[in-house]
Amino acid sequence: MNVAVRAPAVWRRLAKPVAVIGAGIAGLTAAADLERRGLQVSVFETGRAVGGMASSFKDAEGYTYDFGAHFVSNRLARALGASDISHTVGHYGEAVALAGRSYSYPFGLAASPRYAASAIAARLKPGAVDNAADWFRNAYGAALAEDVAIPLAEAWSGAAATELSPAVGQKLSAGVLKTLYLKAASRLTGRAVCNGYSHEMPESPGVYHVYPEGGLSRLLEPTMQQIGHRIALESRVERIFVERGRVVAVRVNGHEIGVSAAISTAPVHILPRLVEGTDELDELGQFRYRPMIFVNLRFEGRNLLPDTMLWVPDRTQPFFRVTEAPFSMPWLAPEGRTQLTFDIGCEVGDAHWSMSDEELARTCLDGLCRIYPHLRTRYIGAGGMLKTPFAYPVYLSRYEPRRQEFARDTGIAGFYSIGRNGEFAHLLMEDIYWRTLKRTQHVADYVGRDV
Ligand SMILES: Cc1cc2nc3c(=O)[nH]c(=O)nc-3n(C[C@H](O)[C@H](O)[C@H](O)COP(=O)(O)OP(=O)(O)OC[C@H]3O[C@@H](n4cnc5c(N)ncnc54)[C@H](O)[C@@H]3O)c2cc1C
Repeated sequence: MNVAVRAPAVWRRLAKPVAVIGAGIAGLTAAADLERRGLQVSVFETGRAVGGMASSFKDAEGYTYDFGAHFVSNRLARALGASDISHTVGHYGEAVALAGRSYSYPFGLAASPRYAASAIAARLKPGAVDNAADWFRNAYGAALAEDVAIPLAEAWSGAAATELSPAVGQKLSAGVLKTLYLKAASRLTGRAVCNGYSHEMPESPGVYHVYPEGGLSRLLEPTMQQIGHRIALESRVERIFVERGRVVAVRVNGHEIGVSAAISTAPVHILPRLVEGTDELDELGQFRYRPMIFVNLRFEGRNLLPDTMLWVPDRTQPFFRVTEAPFSMPWLAPEGRTQLTFDIGCEVGDAHWSMSDEELARTCLDGLCRIYPHLRTRYIGAGGMLKTPFAYPVYLSRYEPRRQEFARDTGIAGFYSIGRNGEFAHLLMEDIYWRTLKRTQHVADYVGRDV
């Protein structure tokens, strides 16, 4: 009797697709996994192309550059079926520019007597931890926290480190012994062993950086082959309808479509406007993302920075990080040339956001030449510029409890929020992949459930 009554409900639910909002790595991974499980999916992407933050560009002059991710692991490439197009990266390293000197990160900094003494003092007498500034002082010592970690966190987030949650530091820390071991493994194997790129899966000498031939976005091609027919481009999800606490439909480009569940990869602060029929998500409206500008400049020569990535904890500089991707992936620029990418933390509409491309290029070149004056004569010209309003989730302490609650459950039956902006978490691509697979198990259980 029960079976006869429930069967039509199950059938109706199964007949409606699961709506996936966004075709970045999170949405594509979710869609491919649900389809593999035999569920119907429809992916809606507002942009003209898939990839989201994992998009790559190649220009006529032979430069390849990525918007967002540059560094991924061989384990992710394998999981995505892209091993055969991926090159092994032989070297990856970071440095910090401080008061006219460059220190390798982390050991060059640790070798400085001032920083070492302060770090030991902090270990011997740790203070209370109420915010990110406290966390940095305990973890690195007051000297390194004040000179490096706090200015970087503030430039990156646009908020005072005392207003940021300690979770900012916890997300970034990799542990000294682990770093030492992985750095040594990198030297021995001649491969850029990943360190701090995954928190979901263990890092070891067998997990190293690779780069897909032709640009990082190619990593998603095998998934596209599986799921491409389910993707509607230039299709913005304008509303997600909730009835009696359960997702029932979405509106896409003006058309209403019944759905069995919805998986969003959109930034969480727009969810209160997107999701209609509940006030469950209202508090997320105040969550803030840090807008960012990425400026590419081109130079004669190679390996102009001390290492692949240069951190610049100098509040008088417009940028807090410069990346020379061809340092690790020489094939990204024509021979004898290189490209540096400058990260500028900003607010939409502020002085940097409003600058023309020429002004941004000049500002970055001037800042760089304050550190390395000799680079001015090597400057060739500007490459692409990118401005994005949602680059980094800002973990303000005041909404930390709600953030953690939302990370466990959206509070709406059949509604899931995944990916970097969707989880409001500093996630890199590999962790997005593994976390999304765990979440699709929940979606499949929900959709298949007899309710
Ligand atoms: C500067 C920077 C550097 C990074 N470097 C690395 C790195 O080296 N290694 C690494 O692993 N990761 C890196 N990352 C992180 C990585 O790029 C992201 O974590 C990942 O690409 C995010 O994937 P996603 O699918 O969660 O989101 P996204 O890629 O943002 O995809 C979301 C998609 O949803 C679409 N969308 C939004 N709203 C709607 C709507 N209403 N309707 C329809 N579609 C919608 C968007 O257009 C977008 O395409 C970096 C990120 C940044 C910003």
